[in-house]
Parts: sequence; structure tokens; C-alpha cells
Amino acid sequence: MNIKSRLLGMAFASSDVLFELDGERVTFAVGAGPAAGQSPGDLWTGQALEALMTPASCARMTAALGAAVPGVRSAPIDVEVLIGDGRTRKAIAHAFALPDLAPSVSCALSWQGPAMGVTSVRPAGLLDARGLVKRLGSLLALGGTGPELAIDFVEIPGLKATDSATRRAGARIEAGLQAASLDGTGTAQLAPDRFALIRESCDLTDLAAVIRDAGRAEGLDLSPITTRGEIGKTDASVAVRTLRRALEDCLKDGASAGDRFGERLKQTVRDAESFRNIVRDRQFKLVWQPIVSMDKRDVHHFEALTRFGGAKVAPVGPIGMAEDLGLIEAFDLAVVEKALAQMRHPGFNRVQVAVNVSAMSLLTDNYVDKVLGMTASLPEVRKRLLIELTETTALTDLEGADRRLTLLRDAGIRICLDDFGVGTASYDYLRRLHVDIVKIDGGFVRDVEFDPKVRTMMGHLIDLCRDMKIDTVAEMVETEGQASVLQELGVQFGQGWLFGRPSETPTIAASASAARRLGEVAGWG
Ligand code: C2E
Ligand code: MG
Ligand code: MG
Repeated sequence: MNIKSRLLGMAFASSDVLFELDGERVTFAVGAGPAAGQSPGDLWTGQALEALMTPASCARMTAALGAAVPGVRSAPIDVEVLIGDGRTRKAIAHAFALPDLAPSVSCALSWQGPAMGVTSVRPAGLLDARGLVKRLGSLLALGGTGPELAIDFVEIPGLKATDSATRRAGARIEAGLQAASLDGTGTAQLAPDRFALIRESCDLTDLAAVIRDAGRAEGLDLSPITTRGEIGKTDASVAVRTLRRALEDCLKDGASAGDRFGERLKQTVRDAESFRNIVRDRQFKLVWQPIVSMDKRDVHHFEALTRFGGAKVAPVGPIGMAEDLGLIEAFDLAVVEKALAQMRHPGFNRVQVAVNVSAMSLLTDNYVDKVLGMTASLPEVRKRLLIELTETTALTDLEGADRRLTLLRDAGIRICLDDFGVGTASYDYLRRLHVDIVKIDGGFVRDVEFDPKVRTMMGHLIDLCRDMKIDTVAEMVETEGQASVLQELGVQFGQGWLFGRPSETPTIAASASAARRLGEVAGWG
């Protein structure tokens, strides 16, 4: 359903705001916000209904949304919408279900009268969870020169109560926490009784004491729980990514951010730390999968694939995390180091090897400089080395990436574009990056035998690569049927279980003659 029909729906409902909920959360919001200059899309998208309205309004609204029937507008519901700074604004709401949007339900709001007065002395500018990520993001500008940071989580059992003493204590606590946070602007409220603060690691203010004092001033005996997530040891960009990932994980699970955010952040910080240790101590191994010529099935080279903690652990999880957290470059370099050590092993004599690199590692010169450094005295090894570019979605600076790839190619190292066809930008990469090999994504290979469209697309792609003097590899070839179609289409090389699974020593399926040919392969190009 497009924006136009939604706006028409809003006009039809003659309302000020239209928003949609998928289960618990707002997925779309449009219209005139509660105060001038406020956009409901910015304010509400991603929020739970509880974050939008007072608890009583929320209960009425949830009941009406639950009962919404396609084509029927609910009776008007009186609601009080939270508009920040402890203020509310009255509105009339109607719930309805649009068949096109099922299972989402929609709600139209019409504002009634002006915003209500301040109900608490909440300090201005308390952030929400997303605002906290953004605030930390702004610290990126400080680069390595910024202070070491920590995130403190504060849970205050009892603060959910709505009596006036608790509300006053809450306002005092918010002011106290805000004052203790970085620059007085780094506190977020994740739930009525949970807060997170960005602080300098060296700040030793006793938050629990601040909270207890605030409670005592209102005659309350509060027992806060505070926990610290140390992110200050890393640079600000890793800190931001860690926080963002924890938040995203949390929202993905559908849990309220306030409930699990603290635990998730701590877990993410721990995961990042253990990944750093894995890289530092080289606690991973490489397994090798053959890439063969489609016609004779001679081994052409082996791809090094990483294994963490045993063959059963898929590497995509930790590698994806390392990409998210900006830790991938160190890992990609450790893989090259390991592969080079194995390439110099007598058993590996003359075998050509491909290693994977996340395109993120090409965002600066460091990876390429280090690879060239590691192979500076090994021109023969450089000729046997291929680098496969994965996760190309990260390639924001194609010119820079191409310049770096060219340095590698000038040194004799071959470049392969992995998983070709997955992203819509694939052809742009092909045009703007100078590569030697294109590896066609396994998703196409899976369907090539029985889907005529896929076959036509692959045929054109292979022809295109041939015209551009780029070799092609088809990955994840599992059946003879696929292999014969691929060969007909003109793919030069294949990789997949049909030809050999990844194994600790470079081996290929069954064929003794193929094993004999190992090491007698011709160079690329
Ligand atoms: P990739 O580079 O596209 O690797 C191919 C994946 O397909 C490997 O999964 C391989 O085990 C699997 N595979 C091979 N033949 C078949 C087949 O016939 N059928 C099926 N279903 N699967 C097959 P793996 O080892 O789990 O690696 C997954 C991805 O993780 C890799 O995809 C690559 O993107 C990344 N990766 C693995 N090792 C490294 C590494 O050392 N560095 C980086 N940056 N990424 C790596
Ligand atoms: Mg690969
Ligand atoms: Mg691939």
C-alpha cells in the first residue's frame, strides 16, 4: 500500500495523524504531530504503544485495535498522548483494519485542544533508546581523541508506581542522572523504571547514592540496581556500533527495549571482546574447498573458509557480528596470515588459494598495505593468491576500493567478486571495480536447472564476463544436473559439494586422477 492511499485514508478518517501498528510497535506514522514542528513519523516509528499514550489510554486503544474488523471504523476512543517533557495532549482515536495491511492495524487520531500543562519537572532532553545511540554516534566525530566511555544501566524497582511521591522522586532522579551523564545530556529513559547513561569511564559518581537521596527526599526507600557496560576501551565507532547492535537485537526480538537492553549491550560487549581474543590468539582454523574446471574437473584452486570452534559452527554469525562492530579488518588480516603460513607448507606446494575479505576491510588502505607487506618477499606466493570480496554492500567508496584492489592486482594477486548477483548494485561493481573473476551466487546456481529465467540471466552474465575477459565460477554446485547446465552456459569453474566439501586438508571428491592433478594446475589467465 503506498503513501498516497494511506494519506487518502487519513483524509477519509478526517484525522490529524494516521499510524499503523504491527503487533506491539508503530511501523508507520504520518500527519501533523502533537506540537508544531513535530513529525509523528520521526517521533513514533519503532515505538511501542505504551511509549505513545498514558497507560489508561493505551489499554483502551489496545482493546479497540484487537477488535478491529476490516472496513469498519471503531467507535471514538478518548486518549491522552504523551508529547514529551511530561506533557500530554488529548485526542480522539479510531481503530480500523485495512485488508491490504493485514496483520497490521491502523489508528487515526484527531487532536482535541492544546497541549496540557507540565505534569512533572522532568529535565528537558532526556533521550530514548534510539536517541542514546545517536548521541553516542555524535561522539564519533571525536575519533580516537574522545574520552573513554561507559554506559551505566540503572534499574529502580518501584519507580513504576504512579502516586505523586514516586512521580516527584522520578523527576528528581531524572535530573540527577542527567547531571551525572556526559555533558549533562547523555541520559536515556528506556522504561519508566530503567535508564541508561553515557559517562566517562573515569567518572566515579555513585549513581545509586544519587537515586537513594532523591527517593529519601520524597520519603521513599529506593534500592536501585546499577550495572556498567564498559565500552571505553574501544574507539568511539566500535562503541556506537556495539550499542546499536545491542539495541537492534533487542528490537528484533520484539522485547521492549527497556527490558533487555542492558543485558544485550553487556552480551554484545562480551561477544566483541571474545571475538577480539579469538583474532589475537588465532583461535580459528581454515578449511579448504576445491574450485574445479567445469570441463575436466581439475582442481584449479582452493578457497580458505574459516571455522570457529569446530566444524559445526557456521562462520557467518561471528563474521557478520565482526562486520557490524568494525572488527573485521583485523580478522581478515589474520586469515591472510594463516593462509600464507599454510601455503608455504610443503604439502601445499603450488596450490592456488583464495581467501575471503569483507569489502569493509577495503574502506581504508590498511588491509591492502598489510597484505602487500606480508607478501613483499614472496612474489611466487602472490601469484598463487586470490582475494574474494564478500559483503560488497559495505562498499560506499567504489573509487577508493578500486584503487586498493588495483594495488593488489599490480602485485600479482587476483581479485574475485564473491556472491555476484545478490545485491542490486552487482552490475555497478562489475563496471567500476577491476576484477579477474566473478563468482556467481549459489542462489542462482540452485535454480539454474529448472528455472528458465535464471538460466537466461546466468547465460547473459557469463557471456558478459567473457566479453570483459573475466573468468566465472559457479558456487554451491550440488548436482550433476546443475553442473551440466552450467557447463552448457559456459561457466569455466565450479565449487560445491559435488566436487568436494571444505576439509582440513585440501582434498577433492572421489576422483583419484583429480587428486593426482593437484598441484599441476595452470595459473590464472
Ligand atoms: P562464501 O565465501 O560465499 O563461501 C561459500 C559458502 O558456501 C561456504 O559456507 C561453504 O561451506 C558453502 N558451500 C560450499 N559448497 C556448498 C554447496 O554445495 N552447498 C551449500 N549449501 N553450501 C556450500 P561457510 O564456510 O559457512 O561460509 C559462509 C560465508 O562466510 C562465506 O561465504 C563468506 O562470506 C564468509 N566467510 C567464511 N570464511 C571467511 C573468512 O575467512 N573471512 C571472511 N571475511 N568471510 C568468510
Ligand atoms: Mg567466498
Ligand atoms: Mg559466495
